[in-house]
Amino acid sequence: MRYISTRGNAPALSFSDVLLSGLAEDGGLYLPQAWPEFSLDDWRSLRGLPYPELAARVMAPFTAPDIDFETLKSLCEQAYAGFDHPAIVPVTQVEDGLFVQELFHGPTLAFKDMAMQVLGQLFEHVLTQRNDHVTIVGATSGDTGSAAIEACRGRKRLSVIILHPKGRTSEVQRRQMTTVLDPNITNLAVEGTFDDCQDLVKTLFADLPFRREMNLSAVNSINWARIAAQIPYYVHAALTFGAPEREVSFAVPTGNFGNILAAWAARRMGLPIRQLCVGSNRNDILTRFLNANDMTIKGVVPSLSPSMDIQVSSNFERLLFELLGRDAAACTWIMTGFRATGHMDVPEETWERARSLFSGLALDDTQTEAEIRALHQKSGYLADPHSVIGIAAGRKFRKPGTPMIAEATAHPAKFPDAMVAATGIHPALPVHMADLYERRERYRTVPATPQAIKDAVRAAVADCNAG
Ligand SMILES: *Cc1c(COP(=O)(O)O)cnc(C)c1O
Repeated sequence: MRYISTRGNAPALSFSDVLLSGLAEDGGLYLPQAWPEFSLDDWRSLRGLPYPELAARVMAPFTAPDIDFETLKSLCEQAYAGFDHPAIVPVTQVEDGLFVQELFHGPTLAFKDMAMQVLGQLFEHVLTQRNDHVTIVGATSGDTGSAAIEACRGRKRLSVIILHPKGRTSEVQRRQMTTVLDPNITNLAVEGTFDDCQDLVKTLFADLPFRREMNLSAVNSINWARIAAQIPYYVHAALTFGAPEREVSFAVPTGNFGNILAAWAARRMGLPIRQLCVGSNRNDILTRFLNANDMTIKGVVPSLSPSMDIQVSSNFERLLFELLGRDAAACTWIMTGFRATGHMDVPEETWERARSLFSGLALDDTQTEAEIRALHQKSGYLADPHSVIGIAAGRKFRKPGTPMIAEATAHPAKFPDAMVAATGIHPALPVHMADLYERRERYRTVPATPQAIKDAVRAAVADCNAG
């Protein structure tokens, strides 16, 4: 499979190159040149497979010919070996016709592990083949950083430097990053906001000599391999409910549009999905778009679901490109205008096409808390502030006769304050993390300047090579 850019002005790349490079040179996002399509028999043949094997079969058309099937299968088996639930992605019923698929049984208790664990394996494999080393630099408001650190710890061909805004992540989130003491992992507490961290990372990537010197690479949610590794759990859930003979619908709490884009991709590959429902918090740009074709940037408001506190959903560009019939010139025009004005001018018929499949619901913090409480009282299910928004969207848009599956993206123990406020219950951390508060932390505090970050990256890579 070759990959093309949504802006139409970058070379087509192989899977391995897309994995290592992330963003396309023309500022666009990579997508497969042609979508693989599975036949009814292809879907049926996946029924009953162990999750890692199913994941490898679904991802294989995307990684071929760079990675052969047996290798991919073994990488997927290693990626999911550390999950603390035998089903990896268990599904439970919470209401009539409404189900929850839990994506938080990985090492950092959030759905980012589903893809990041596979990415860590893929990086190691490709870099060993090429006898190469890369430096991964990323900014995090919480979940992405810890998932990347867990996936890459102890890997000799990867140095990982994660920037987090000092004092602005939850304590669980910080400790999940800073208690990892492997020599290839460096945590920088930046004296600034998450936006400052993200701008610093962008500045480093824009500095081409530095980028080459350090062989910089990214694992953020625009990396195509992350989307590819998120498609299999939609397949798994749909098969459980009788696909390909029966349709299902999904509801997904959404920030960067990466998770739900994978559901769209599954549908594009032939999985019978009827509706896709987006859940947002007060940062409701996607819901405003779906309801009124109003994709306008507003300031980010902090909420109970911090991983969805996002102004611009980067992965939306991939859907836009597809809805425009893969017209890269039109896509570039719309995205450039969006950057310049803060408003995305989506043609009416493109918007209608989006609305025929997607619906959006936004909840503020008060509503989120009330939903957590009501769901717990009615069904006994404890959903974290992200997951409950997806569940509420699923309930709202569910059509009789079609199972609605809401994706649960974080373990409630990751957000104990919100859970106590809503239900009075303090959810316990799983056994493998029970001593998190006693573990030693290591991080460096740095000012929010490009020079300070560059020095820290150089020092981290030198340390890692020396050790
Ligand atoms: C990242 C994240 C989301 C949002 O996922 P996107 O792919 O950015 O839409 C939702 N919930 C949790 C817990 C997350 O960590």
